[in-house]
This record gives sequence, C-alpha cells and structure tokens, in this order.
Amino acid sequence: MASREVSPQLTTPGRPQSSCMDDYDPASLPLDEALARIYALVPPLADTERVALRTSLGRILGEDVHSPVDVPAHTNSAMDGYAVRAGDLPPEGGGQLKMVGTSWAGRAFGGRVGPGECARIMTGGVMPEGADTVVMQEDCRLAADVVHVHGRHRRGQHVRGAGEDLARDQVALHRGRRVTPADLGLLASLGIGEVSVVRRPRVAFFSTGDELRSIGEPLAPGEVYDSNRYTLYGMLERIGAEVIDLGVVGDDLVATQDALRSAARMADVVVASAGASVGEADFIKAALEEVGEVDFWKIAMKPGRPLSLGKICNAVFFGLPGNPVSVMVTFYQCVAPALRRLMGESRSQALRLPARCVGTLKKQPGRLEFQRGVLERDEQGALSVRSTGGQGSGILSSMSQANCFIVLPVESGDVPADTIVEVEPFEDII
Ligand code: AMP
Ligand code: MG
Repeated sequence: MASREVSPQLTTPGRPQSSCMDDYDPASLPLDEALARIYALVPPLADTERVALRTSLGRILGEDVHSPVDVPAHTNSAMDGYAVRAGDLPPEGGGQLKMVGTSWAGRAFGGRVGPGECARIMTGGVMPEGADTVVMQEDCRLAADVVHVHGRHRRGQHVRGAGEDLARDQVALHRGRRVTPADLGLLASLGIGEVSVVRRPRVAFFSTGDELRSIGEPLAPGEVYDSNRYTLYGMLERIGAEVIDLGVVGDDLVATQDALRSAARMADVVVASAGASVGEADFIKAALEEVGEVDFWKIAMKPGRPLSLGKICNAVFFGLPGNPVSVMVTFYQCVAPALRRLMGESRSQALRLPARCVGTLKKQPGRLEFQRGVLERDEQGALSVRSTGGQGSGILSSMSQANCFIVLPVESGDVPADTIVEVEPFEDII
C-alpha cells in the first residue's frame, strides 16, 4: 500500500480554537521553549579530571586531544607486493625489476631502491628510500631475483603516506566528545595513555508519594513499588552522572522542603518524581517556592505535563511527573539534554527518521506527543513502526518493549495507517 505524508487534512495548521476534544493549554510551554530556558539555566561544568585511557570510555573529553605524532608515522605499504619506482615502469605496462631486499612490517629495509630495482614489501612495511609505488604481489612473478610486473600501474598506488590519517599537532579528538571504543583505539594508536575528562555531574534524586513501597516490603491495597528510582538510576548511570539516591519522601510539605534543601547541598542537579501537579497531595511546587525559585511548570508535551524547572541555591531542579512512562520521557527529552550541556557534550540533535506507521494511532491535537513504538524493517526493507499498544503513562512495559518514540506534532490528530511518521530511535540511555 502506498505511504503518505501527514496530510493537511490530518493536521490543523496554526492553533485551532480550543474545544473539549483537544489538548491545548495556553499556560503550557512548547518543548523547544522549555529547552531554551533549561539551557539558559545550566552552565557547563568547568572541572575536569585526568583519567587512564580505559576509564575515559563514555566520558566527555574536557579538552582537545592533539596528536603527538604523525599517523602513520612512516610512509608504508597498504599491500603485500613490491615497492617500485613508478618511473621504471613503461607506460604501456609490464616491466622487469631487480629485487634488492625486503621491507617487513616492523623491520624496514635499510637500503635504497635505485633505478631498475624494487624491494619486496609487506603490508605495513616502511617504504624504502627511492620507491614511490607498490605493485601488489598478484601482479608480479618472481624468477630468481628478477620481478616481472604485469599490467599498468599508477604512481603512488597502495602507499599510505606518513601523517595521512592524522598529522602531528592536529586535533585528533575534540573537547565535548563522548569517548567511544573507536576513540580508545585512536588514542592508543597515538600512544596516549591518559586524557582529561569533564567531572561527572552529581545528580541527587528522590521519589515522593505516601503510596510508594520499597522492594521487599509487602504492598497494602493502593500501594505500589517505587519504580521511578530504578529507571532514573539507570538513565543517570548511562548518561554518565554520579548518582545520589535519596529514597522516598512522603507527601508532606516540610519533609519535601528538607529533602530539596539537602539534595541541593550535595548535587549539581536535583530530580524529584511525582507530587508535581497541583493536587492536594502534591507538595513539590509549594516546597520549591519556599526553598528556591521556580521557572516554569507545564510543557505542552505528552506524556510529561506537568514538569517543573527551578533552582535551589546553585543546583538546577527538575520536578518530573509521577507516572513511570512520563518520568522516562521527560528525562529523555528535558533532563538528558540539560545533563549533556552540563557535561559540555557537543552532540547533534537526536536522530529522527521517517517511517511508515503500521496501524492507526490515536491522538488529540494540542500537545507534542511521544508515543512508544517498535521500529523495524518491513519485508521490502523499508522502515516501519508499530505502536507498542497501550500508551497510558503508567504502562511501563510499553517503554520496555519500545525502541523508539513516535513523535507526533502538536497539531496532529489521529494518524491513519500507512502515514509516514517521524520516529526517534532510543539512544543508549534508555
Ligand atoms: P503523582 O504525580 O504523585 O500524582 O503520581 C502520579 C502517578 O504515578 C500515581 O499513580 C503514582 O502512584 C505513580 N507514581 C508516583 N511515583 C512513583 C514511583 N516512584 N514509582 C511508581 N509509580 C509512581
Ligand atoms: Mg503523589
């Protein structure tokens, strides 16, 4: 079946009149604006530390790493064959050369290749003086000490120039980069055993709610196990934070204020989940107004409203919703960018791809929505995405099954099957 873009009939351009059928809230901030305010509040950490090469995996480089050497250090062969002087080979092809020595990888031929001569050379072997070209061994036949060359060859072929990969003093890796396994290898190839990385941001977090129980405790009716502290722990660890778990705080104003104050004393960032609405048992807002400053309260996204941003002394505060899926989505969309900025991570925006939506999606206009999806290749090899099913913000199994968000724009209403939608594959923090 033919796919189609989200058509104007499906989306309502501009902001339509509010109706009981949509989800507009004029007091809500668009996500982009919320992110701009978050960035304005989060200065990059200045502190760096020097760590051993392997320890730098996944950390953010605190300064540019310059290459202390040329890579490769010497001009060498990319093939097993013969090092020759291109000028000795007739333009019509062929040729005969006298073999005068061998250059092994790690054991150079000390001599010189003169006119009419060549040297046996192995992959990685240093090019002998005088030679400028490598003819691969499949194109040669050795008889006694004479090499018979077949075919025509290009000057400089199969030769890797010194400094071709990286020249000495060139920046090998830029500050702000998250160190990958390839980077470890690259740094090792430069002989670098230690690098400067940005200090891990300290993030203190707690859950709020009288109904929350810890694993191992029996559950009375209406009580639930605290799962948010586990998803938060996982995402914070993966993004590279130093995690400070402050446990559960009951639905109580004074206890919430105390928790916020002590969290702010020990951390760069404080994250609380739940209690962020304006219900009778929601104390985050009132507590924050006492101990710090609130910047914004609601974001026009789903799940994720309400989400609060504030400051308590020098710490940045995020008040996440309570529902387990909302916690993960708001962390991913709002807290993770803040932490990346704090760590000085230079990173392009999350990848978003078009994919054909299998089945219909339900949505009301009014909020940017992040539905959970499974992105896969269909029988034709094209990208398709299906919903994980129930999209309730308490259905954590939908996050567990998903490998991407289906990002539905604010204006979009229901999405018919086979529409091309935008998906955001999860990165490694979820
Ligand atoms: P609240 O924002 O406090 O109204 O919480 C919204 C919903 O999320 C309620 O159903 C809570 O029971 C649930 N919830 C809040 N915190 C947690 C948590 N730490 N783990 C699991 N569920 C939670
Ligand atoms: Mg609550």
